[in-house]
Amino acid sequence: MSDLTRRNFLQAATAAAGAGLLPASALGAQAAANKANGPVVIASGNGKRATAKAAEILRQGGDTLDAVIAGVNIVEEDPADHTVGHGGLPNEDGVVELDSSVMHGPTCRAGAVAALRNIKTPSRVAKLVMERTDHVMLVGEGALRFARAHGFEEVNLLTDDARKIWLHWKERHSDVDDWLKPPGEPDEIDLESNAQSMADIPFSYGTINCCAVDASGNLSGVTTTSGLSFKIPGRVGDSPIIGAGLYVDNQVGAAGATGRGEAVIKTCGAHTIVEAMRTGMSPLEACRYALQRIIDTTTEPHLLREDGSPKFNVVFYAVAKDGRYGSASMWSGAEFAVYANGKNRVESIRSFMFKREDIE
Ligand code: ASP
Repeated sequence: MSDLTRRNFLQAATAAAGAGLLPASALGAQAAANKANGPVVIASGNGKRATAKAAEILRQGGDTLDAVIAGVNIVEEDPADHTVGHGGLPNEDGVVELDSSVMHGPTCRAGAVAALRNIKTPSRVAKLVMERTDHVMLVGEGALRFARAHGFEEVNLLTDDARKIWLHWKERHSDVDDWLKPPGEPDEIDLESNAQSMADIPFSYGTINCCAVDASGNLSGVTTTSGLSFKIPGRVGDSPIIGAGLYVDNQVGAAGATGRGEAVIKTCGAHTIVEAMRTGMSPLEACRYALQRIIDTTTEPHLLREDGSPKFNVVFYAVAKDGRYGSASMWSGAEFAVYANGKNRVESIRSFMFKREDIE
C-alpha cells in the first residue's frame, strides 16, 4: 500500500471510529498494510545507524522496544557523538549527566532515568526501570545505584574532546570570573550576540530519539541524551519525561522530540502529537500542531527574537500505527533519519515554522 493509500485508509478508518479505537475490521486491514510494507523506524538526524539496526532486528521478528534500544545504543556508545551517552557534553561542572526514557506500546509500559552519571547506555537502564521496578523514573544517585545493582559498568563519560569543548566554554562564557580567555581570543565577549546565536551553537542541544512500528502494527520508542550542554547540575530536560520527549500509544502512534527541552516539557510535546494523531491528523500535521503550541506559549523575552520567533530549535518526529511518518522543525536546516519501504536514509526536514536566513 502506498503512503497515500495508507493515508486514505487511516482517514476512513478514523472517521468511522470517531476519536476512539479502530474497529476490528479496520485493525485487520491495517495489520495487512503493515505486513506488506514492513517496519518503519524514524529517528533524529544523528540516528541513521540506529534506524538501520532497529529495522534489521524488526525484520527478524524482534520486539519494537528491543529494536530501538539496540539502535540508539550504537550512538550512546560512540565517543565521537557529543550529544548522547559516552562523549556527551557535560554540565557546567564538567560532569556528564544523562537522561533517557523508553515506552513499550504493546504493554503500555514506560521507564526513565534522569541525571544519571557514569553509565554509557541510560536507555538500557530506563528499560530495566520499566521491567524490574514498580516505578517509572529514577534520578541521580538512585538511578546510578540501580544501574550498579544490575551490573552496569561505570566509566568516566567525559572524553578528552568533550572536556576540551567544556573548558573552552568555561573560559569564555563570562567576563566576571577568574577564568582567563583561551589564548588568541578577545578579552571582551559580546554576550548579547552569543545569546542570539543560541540556536546556532552546534553543541548546545542534541539527543537521539528513535520510534518504530513493526509489521504487526506494534510501536515503541526511546529518547536518550546528555541534554543541554553546560547545564546547571541536576537540570533535567524533556528526554526522560514521558509525554514530553517521548510518547507511545499502541493504538495510535509514537512521537519524540529533540531541541530545547524546556519548551517541549511545557507543552507536553510528544503526548500532544500522539493525541493530535488520535483525532485524525497525519504525523506531519501533528508535529506542526505541537510546534505551533510552543510558539504560542513562549513568552519569555530572552527566548524571543525581535520578530517574535523563538531563538531556539525544536524538532518533532512521529510515526503512526499504519506506518505513515513525519517530522517538522521550528527552524529550517534540520534532518531526520528514517527506515521505510526497505530503505534507510537521512532526509532534510522540509516542513519548518521559520526559515533560517543563513540557509537557502
Ligand atoms: N531535548 C534535550 C534536552 O533538552 C536536548 C536536545 O534534544 O538537544 O535535554
